[in-house]
Amino acid sequence: MKFLANLTRMLIPAPCFLCGANTTGESGLCASCLLGWVPVARAPRCPQCATGVAMVGLLCAECAQAPPAFDCTHTGQDFNAATRHLVHQLKFARQPWVLPALLLPLVDQIERAYPAPRVDWPQALIPMPIHPQRRQARGFNQARLIADQLGRRFDLPVLGQAAVRVKASAPQSGLDAAARRKNLRDAFAVRQSLPAHVAIIDDVMTTGSSAAVLARVLKQAGVRRVTVWVLARTPRPD
Ligand SMILES: [Zn+2]
Ligand SMILES: [Zn+2]
Repeated sequence: MKFLANLTRMLIPAPCFLCGANTTGESGLCASCLLGWVPVARAPRCPQCATGVAMVGLLCAECAQAPPAFDCTHTGQDFNAATRHLVHQLKFARQPWVLPALLLPLVDQIERAYPAPRVDWPQALIPMPIHPQRRQARGFNQARLIADQLGRRFDLPVLGQAAVRVKASAPQSGLDAAARRKNLRDAFAVRQSLPAHVAIIDDVMTTGSSAAVLARVLKQAGVRRVTVWVLARTPRPD
């Protein structure tokens, strides 16, 4: 029933993904939830890891002290109650139709960050790999779904097999950044030659540990610049 409701969403009102009010909105969000979903004014973020900072162009303390192996991050928005709900729907409730709504803020941020002619534009997208066992359990890799959409939107190739997860690491939640990096050691391998500038695509950047470890492996394989594009960024607790 839910599937049908979503198929016919454009013709017949269906519940808004966030508040349940009836809507025919193409994104699946009602007008009031859509308001502010794509921020009109963007708060300044660290150019390297996209955490909130006091001033435009300012690196956060962590990136200034111990820069991660990736060079630049863009996020659609903060990971908050609404994005958490939709990401959960996407990953665990198998509701891929929430993806267009989740992508709106990121696509907007990419358009803002790279005005034409696009400078510092990546040459290919690399979805954050998940271990084959997890992929099998979930049925898909959400990062691949996101990368495919962005690839189509921005006419960029998606290298879905270029980087693979070779070690099933323990779940990252509950670990601090150092423990996360240790947990991820030897987790990734590169399986094909890569262009000089790639963008890692993921749903949520929490501490940035996974992206940092993958970026290091990509650079060891010859990549010179690594950008990260994520739907949402977990705010630092301070
Ligand atoms: Zn709503
Ligand atoms: Zn930073």
